[in-house]
Amino acid sequence: MREDFPILATHIGKRPLVYLDNAATTQKPRAVLQAEMDYYEKVNANIHRGAHYLSRLATEQHEQARGTVAAFLHAQSEREVVFTSGCTAGINLAAQVLALSGLVREGDEILVTTDAHHSNIVPWQMLCGRTGAVLRPIPLTPELTFDMAAYEAMLGPRTRIVAAPYISNALGIINPIPEMIAAAKRNRPDCIFLVDGAQSTAHMAVDVQALGCDFYVFSGHKVYAPTGTGALWGREELLEQLPPWLGGGEMIKEVSFDGTTYNDLPFKYEAGTPNIAGNIVLAAALDYVQKIGLNRIDEHEQRLTRNLYDGLTALGGIDILGPREGRGALISVLIPGVHHYDLGTLLDQMGVAVRTGHHCCQPLMQYLGTTGTTRYSFALYNNDDDVAAALSATERALNMLR
Ligand code: PMP
Repeated sequence: MREDFPILATHIGKRPLVYLDNAATTQKPRAVLQAEMDYYEKVNANIHRGAHYLSRLATEQHEQARGTVAAFLHAQSEREVVFTSGCTAGINLAAQVLALSGLVREGDEILVTTDAHHSNIVPWQMLCGRTGAVLRPIPLTPELTFDMAAYEAMLGPRTRIVAAPYISNALGIINPIPEMIAAAKRNRPDCIFLVDGAQSTAHMAVDVQALGCDFYVFSGHKVYAPTGTGALWGREELLEQLPPWLGGGEMIKEVSFDGTTYNDLPFKYEAGTPNIAGNIVLAAALDYVQKIGLNRIDEHEQRLTRNLYDGLTALGGIDILGPREGRGALISVLIPGVHHYDLGTLLDQMGVAVRTGHHCCQPLMQYLGTTGTTRYSFALYNNDDDVAAALSATERALNMLR
């Protein structure tokens, strides 16, 4: 499949690119690049309400794309899929409409995991600021896994919202989302549970109905689609009950100076001209992933991740965050005496692209007592050579830095 990704032929100086920054963003296959080109060459028009051929074609493809996303997530209905510019936009949309809804009151509690991304913390803090609700972090175990016992002890009559990443972008651990949702709903059936699928959607199959969550968000650019794409899935009954947020074209049925009636789902949440090309291309990316099969992708990435884990362990003196098992396709490390930025810079000089820093998880970094980590993350096109290159580059860099 490497052949499908033209950018992988890049060289950094004389060295072939070893791209291990997939948790930040993935590279795009030819099928996706071609879909973007096809759209602008053959389809481009504004959608909905257009009387002409191209507008009908663009509308048809756009709504088919929604169907692809709905099927990918196993949504009950396409009405539950709201196109967004990504996870950040999706979580902000959910938090903003909950703030407007009156469903969140003073003293209510919003629980988030310690490993949550800023985009799954700050929108809830803003909601707390407006409603008087309180944000409470759910602790980690000493092994840096989700602390189920502590979470269950925190659940109570005031727990209104729980938000968690399926896979932590900074630790790589898979949170026990099905069990977390079940516990939240046992405690309080109307508790609203949001799953941040930023790091899971490209790596493991998801069924939002089986999970029983209320919101699921993901970013297209982490699933081989362009930046500025993604979706928020929301349970239909809840979306029906919640108010709109952005006002404008498309989200209305009737407007007069006396008032406005709002459009049906999902258009109630899609004010303005959407990212028509992006949404159509997002569907092409999901089709590409489906064709390969998420189970195959997961199996392949799991093997690479375990090999890297074992290789880094064998190098010695590297503190790998979180356990070997129960992790997604990424590994984050701390190396005593070595600054993550220095390591990242040396790895880059050897052609290995990793991410260093706080990974937009400053509260987690505070908990770990560090300013940042070095993160290696895989996608479907990585291979054994990439693991070997990452290990030998890391060994050489550490020899220089220590
Ligand atoms: N949540 C997690 C777990 C992430 O890894 C990211 C991206 N690093 C986001 C949310 C935000 O995604 P985006 O910047 O695409 O909105």
